[in-house]
Amino acid sequence: MIIIKALLKNKPEFGAEYVEINDPVPKAKEIMIKTKAAAICGTDLHHYEWDETAINFTKNFQVKFPLILGHECSGEVVEIGSEVTNIKVGDKIALETHIPCGICYQCRIGNLHNCQNMGLYGTTYNGCFADYAIAPAKVAFVLPEGVSYEEGALFEPSGVAMRGIEEATIQPGDTVLIYGCGPIGQFAIQMANICGAAKVIAIDINPFRINMAKELDVITINAQEEDPVEAVKVLTRDKGGVDIAIELTGAASVYQNIFKMIRLEGRLVTIGHPSKEVAVNFTRDINQKGLAIKGIFGRRIWNTWQHLAELVVNEKIDLLKVVTNRYKLKQYEEAFKKAHEDSGKILFV
Ligand SMILES: [Zn+2]
Ligand SMILES: [Zn+2]
Repeated sequence: MIIIKALLKNKPEFGAEYVEINDPVPKAKEIMIKTKAAAICGTDLHHYEWDETAINFTKNFQVKFPLILGHECSGEVVEIGSEVTNIKVGDKIALETHIPCGICYQCRIGNLHNCQNMGLYGTTYNGCFADYAIAPAKVAFVLPEGVSYEEGALFEPSGVAMRGIEEATIQPGDTVLIYGCGPIGQFAIQMANICGAAKVIAIDINPFRINMAKELDVITINAQEEDPVEAVKVLTRDKGGVDIAIELTGAASVYQNIFKMIRLEGRLVTIGHPSKEVAVNFTRDINQKGLAIKGIFGRRIWNTWQHLAELVVNEKIDLLKVVTNRYKLKQYEEAFKKAHEDSGKILFV
């Protein structure tokens, strides 16, 4: 019998408890991992604090209680259920958060990431903020040789950036705008650079994040210190704007100016989720501009993961550059507090 330690949320109100759970056993189609690294995501903070975003979340997904929090992780497989054939004990894996049903229309046509009956690891299913975690075997991605556990734990969030980059279809010589320098923005900057962008411009309002971005090959704009529309105009000269913009902030106010920064016939990829409806002038900003828009929700399973693995193994990107703090799981209160302060990605190790 094993006793595990887990960060458990018992009810829909602020907080969670660090508790012991006796003898968890994987079901037939599940695996159990010894968690080696787990990252804090915005969703975890919302769940922990049970704020308005978390409450809104419950309109789309059935949040499970009690719930082991956490969904971005890697680990070593220590046990498999009786029907698991794709994963074996000893495998080094990372987990996909979107749990596809495998039978709906979207799953059948290959859009598993946007399944019509999607489960969410760490929301509708117990998560990974625990020293041992159980997960459906179908969301385990075997990490190739050369990928560390810490890097593996970052495949899920950096996979969002990767998928945004896939849909951005950057051509050599393009100017790419990354709107938002949080962890996913920082992954996206690295990726846009290796896709042949002549220039990557990054906007944020947080000096700490801008300074982190400055370590990468990018031109930064602090939107609180200068007018980002004017700054982008100067940087893009006669093009009249960037070829491609990737929106990561989810701030509704960004939509008041982002269209002005994209050139005619340009492309907008949206990743950040605004918490309220956004007014858009379709005539001016989309039709007359000839703008293409693509929304991103999750990583393509497993296309995005494979692309990302190749980039990491071949050292084209450095995921760990985005990590600023590491904690033990029992220090969760301190870690969650830090996540609200100046920080990049925070890991439990
Ligand atoms: Zn996440
Ligand atoms: Zn499905």
